[in-house]
Amino acid sequence: MKVLIADQINQKGIEELEEVAEVVARTDITPEELVKDIKDFDAIVVRSRTKVTREVIEAAPLLKIIARAGVGVDNVDVEAATERGVMVVNAPESTSVTVAEHTMGLVLAMSRKIALADKSVKEGKWEKSRFMGMELNGKTLGIVGMGRIGSQVVIRAKAFGMDIMVYDPYITPEAAADLGVEVVDLETLLKNADVITIHVPLTPETKYLISMPQFKLMKENAIIVNCARGGIIKESDLYEALSSGEIAGAALDVYETEPPKENPLLELDNIVLTPHIAASTSEAQRDAAIIVAREIKKVFQGDSPKNVINMPVMDPETFRLIKPFFGLAEKLGKFLIQTAKGNITELDITYCGELAEVQKNDILTRMILQEILNPILTEPINMVNAPGVAKNRGIMVTEAKRCDSRGYKDLINIKMKADGNEVIVEGVFDKEPKIVKINSYQVDVETEGTMVIVRYKDIPGIIGSIGTKLGEHEINIAKMQVGRQTPGGEAVMVLKVDQKVSKDVEDAVKSLDNVHDAVAVNL
Ligand code: NAD
Repeated sequence: MKVLIADQINQKGIEELEEVAEVVARTDITPEELVKDIKDFDAIVVRSRTKVTREVIEAAPLLKIIARAGVGVDNVDVEAATERGVMVVNAPESTSVTVAEHTMGLVLAMSRKIALADKSVKEGKWEKSRFMGMELNGKTLGIVGMGRIGSQVVIRAKAFGMDIMVYDPYITPEAAADLGVEVVDLETLLKNADVITIHVPLTPETKYLISMPQFKLMKENAIIVNCARGGIIKESDLYEALSSGEIAGAALDVYETEPPKENPLLELDNIVLTPHIAASTSEAQRDAAIIVAREIKKVFQGDSPKNVINMPVMDPETFRLIKPFFGLAEKLGKFLIQTAKGNITELDITYCGELAEVQKNDILTRMILQEILNPILTEPINMVNAPGVAKNRGIMVTEAKRCDSRGYKDLINIKMKADGNEVIVEGVFDKEPKIVKINSYQVDVETEGTMVIVRYKDIPGIIGSIGTKLGEHEINIAKMQVGRQTPGGEAVMVLKVDQKVSKDVEDAVKSLDNVHDAVAVNL
């Protein structure tokens, strides 16, 4: 077996590979040379310099695996690799400790005003009283997002004697208990934490998660740190909060625009800034090299690698049978993650009708999981890694096959438990994906655009008041379906609307008398 090392990686990774393969390091290889010479290699290792394009992949008849010694795979044409049955692996966990350490560094830099004091001493000053600090011992650290990095921050902050509060609606109570942290809602965290640190991915849900209303909830002595992604904190509001004394300080490694040119934050004294270096240590690079070297070894030895990020290869017959249901599986997954109130603990997926006959419909389960996990996690979730990630996050997934499809040719029924609540959704593919049941109510809903699902007590006038409330917020109703079990009992309404529905509008509908719940879903 032959491995091409196309970008500089740590020697430890190369040594691991040399145990099983002939390793050729050509870290200055040009794109043209790569296309010409790749034909002899079984594996290629890259960082971010080398682009593994479709042309490269198509010129590589022996290639089995493309390894990215790092996290992002923007420089690899994953689709072309998948089509050719070439695995793409990465090393998502390689930077967690390194980023957590940088986070602690920034917390200390702010709480002890280290950067400012350093500048002052170098200017020949000795301003001891100017740099009165805040001890971390006994203070509360609020961690927003307790994934790989957030969990590592917990361990380090505990060593500093800090009390820890976590806001992460998607973690299980077991994960929180294992780390011994208190899980709270965002408002409680913001009101109580002395130091707040952000470790969520940038998603539509987390964009500007921390803006002026959140700064207003924070303590005056609060310090906020962001080593996650620019855009989670709204920088213009952060500037306001820091200049007006709403909060005491901030430290950023990431920015809305990088580098942060002409950014007023650069002029403030109560902020520490680093140039997106939280993941930059030689140890993280070494670990990335070792992790991907071990993945390549596994593939050469016939074992399954752990961090495969592209789709498994399927036989053409299964692909033909399953393909029409990809869209349905995707929409059901999207529906479920948006209706989940809190962390998901169980998913029971039942395939009915002709779908129950397909041998390998676990591909659909993987697709449903991918759609549920992708919006909330940083690493790309795909059909290969979704089951493992779900398991690690404590989601119990069961699959069943049943033949009764209630008159439909095929039907997928999913029962989800999230924070003790149960949601049931059923979908069919009838020229297009459709939702035909939500909890115990039969519906017939297209899976496009925005819908609002309202649970309410079936009393005269309630439908009108919900419609009026949406109208007050400029939301136009295109279609409406209602389902109820008994007159005067609990009922459900599914409204197809023309505009996106914000959290505020959801809350306004929820605040109406006799409305039990309202949730907007974008499909
Ligand atoms: P992860 O996927 O392991 O964890 C993310 C956590 O956020 C999950 O537990 C998830 O449940 C939670 N989450 C998702 N949406 C949420 C929401 N709306 N509210 C609260 N919690 C939510 O990710 P990770 O590897 O720990 O990375 C965390 C962040 O750090 C990412 O933004 C990543 O891009 C960033 N990062 C930055 C650097 C750097 O150089 N500065 C390096 C690596 C990672």
